[in-house]
Amino acid sequence: MQGPLIDTLARQGITRRTFLKYCATLASMMALPPAAGRAMAEAMAAARRPSVIWLPFQECTGCTESITRSHSPTLEGMIFDMISLDYQETLMAAAGHQAEEARHAAMKDNAGKYLLVVDGSIPLGLDGAYSCIGGRSNVDILKEAAEGAAAIIAMGSCASYGGIPKANPNPTGAVSVSDIIKDKPIVNIPGCPPIPVVMTGVLAHYLTFGSLPELD
Ligand code: SF4
Repeated sequence: MQGPLIDTLARQGITRRTFLKYCATLASMMALPPAAGRAMAEAMAAARRPSVIWLPFQECTGCTESITRSHSPTLEGMIFDMISLDYQETLMAAAGHQAEEARHAAMKDNAGKYLLVVDGSIPLGLDGAYSCIGGRSNVDILKEAAEGAAAIIAMGSCASYGGIPKANPNPTGAVSVSDIIKDKPIVNIPGCPPIPVVMTGVLAHYLTFGSLPELD
């Protein structure tokens, strides 16, 4: 198994053997047959980097913190070598209008193909005014971004079920992604925060097979 990804991972101190072991772990975690680990490694090594847009809504940044601790591969490896993380407010260098422009450009250039990741719940109270980015409510931004997404990953309990913000008396009218979006495939990855390797595992499955893992 060769390729630019393997060379880059090697430069980061991740050996081919470690990468294969990681893929085998992912395959067993997803109840795939043992041979799938090798197939995943080969597909990921050759994968075209899909665009990923990550929207942080009513959240505590814990989900992002958690994925940055994903040990193998490192988040940096995932970002730069396996996916094209085109928008993630917490991690991206751009801010303000520049960040908004990056999101719109990624949505336009990858219409129908990008993976949308959401962490945090979505407040519906006061017409969504409890949480806004660039003067627009979370619910508006979610509906707009979901329209061109191939699939959505609801990262963490807040995005999956409403989480802590939805706890009684739910002052902001918080809801989950699936309460709002009904016409796209959605993977809920609950946990507060979710297990890092589960988050990267779902991304790896998408990179390998071009589809989301089977859901329960
Ligand atoms: S699921 Fe937990 S860690 Fe993630 S945004 Fe919600 S409160 Fe924070």
